[in-house]
Amino acid sequence: MNDERRQSDKKTYKRKIVHDTPKENTPGNCIYAAKCGGCQYQGIPYEKQLKKKQKCVKELLGNTVNVEPILGMKDPFHYRNKVNAAFDRLRNGKIISGVYREGTHEVIDIIECQIEDERADAIIQDIKGLLLSFKIKTYDEDTGYGLLRHVMVRTGHVTGEVMVVLVLASPILPSKNNFVKALRKLHPEISTIVLNVNDRKTSMVLGKRNITLYGKGYIEDVLCGLTFRISPASFYQINSVQTEILYSKAIEFAGLTGKERVIDAYCGIGTIGMAAAKQAKEVIGVELNRDAVRDAITNAKRNQMKHITFYNRDAGEFMEELAGGNEKIDVVFMDPPRSGSTKEFMDSVAALKPKRVVYVSCNPETLARDVKYLGKKGYCVEKCQPVDMFPFTDDVEVAVMLSHKIQRV
Ligand code: SAH
Repeated sequence: MNDERRQSDKKTYKRKIVHDTPKENTPGNCIYAAKCGGCQYQGIPYEKQLKKKQKCVKELLGNTVNVEPILGMKDPFHYRNKVNAAFDRLRNGKIISGVYREGTHEVIDIIECQIEDERADAIIQDIKGLLLSFKIKTYDEDTGYGLLRHVMVRTGHVTGEVMVVLVLASPILPSKNNFVKALRKLHPEISTIVLNVNDRKTSMVLGKRNITLYGKGYIEDVLCGLTFRISPASFYQINSVQTEILYSKAIEFAGLTGKERVIDAYCGIGTIGMAAAKQAKEVIGVELNRDAVRDAITNAKRNQMKHITFYNRDAGEFMEELAGGNEKIDVVFMDPPRSGSTKEFMDSVAALKPKRVVYVSCNPETLARDVKYLGKKGYCVEKCQPVDMFPFTDDVEVAVMLSHKIQRV
């Protein structure tokens, strides 16, 4: 699921586990579903899942705009390009890896997940075996004893590049060269291996320090025809197929002609802004996460884009400054975290008065709240397109376009 956004703020609307535990792991009927809790819609036919999501968006936004039919996936399985596995060891010595049982820190041993990338799952399974042969202990959260906490695998949908991040409680991995060699022998498709040091008592997966053990320390992927660099900690949409669909819609909504000055707020590694830049005069990206901004700057250079600038700032403060400086902005893209945007940000948008605001959201509840607020400031919703980025979960992504009443023809 969309976990970076998830970690920061919990869902406000009701979650319900709807499935019984099936005996066999058949597509759409996962044996781990009840324990794992990650997929609220396991056991529900895909068409029905889409209907439920459409209904949810309609209930929240349907009174202000005609909601377009949700865009679903042809193949809704194994779409996650990022997989996190927690590791633990049972009393009998067996090493297990998977997700935490909902609401606990008890690891559920998951052999194959129906929404995760299959290459990632295979690598994680083989790491279990390597831990035994290299006598590497899994980390025990209670005692603080042991080494391996998590393994994260990220895959490039188009490039096929694979990054393995070994999250350890200490920077020292015994026999590290042989471990890397053995892992690459089993999985020659791995492009880079990174040791991430997480020596704190925390529920965050990654620590701050990364040591590259093999390869370049990041992967690249192609999205909307552009190449993006993805570091261990940077935000990258986890469903590449649907992200292209979502961004194309968002850019279509922006109605760019090549003359506009555009803001990409909450820009992550700059994906939306860069995809839109081909059709804009200038793009300004703003993002709070320092690593993501660093990647965004590299991405712009990598794609030879000179008319896009990125700022490592709080989006609200940044917009306030722009508004204070009477800057001319034509279009604002905003893609905030689950908690939505802030009054400070939206007041500044209203002061800057762009022709259009394209709001991309992973939480229709906060989207509806913010759209209402922007409505009071003179912005009307004109278009609304739900996209299913997270099949089998109850999450739904929505792109809406708002335009200023006075500026509409
Ligand atoms: N638009 C990007 C990222 C969207 S996720 C994409 O499609 O890939 C939301 C982003 O908002 C995250 O990268 C997060 O770091 C960033 N963010 C959260 N709070 C912020 C704030 N106050 N100011 C700027 N960026 C923020």
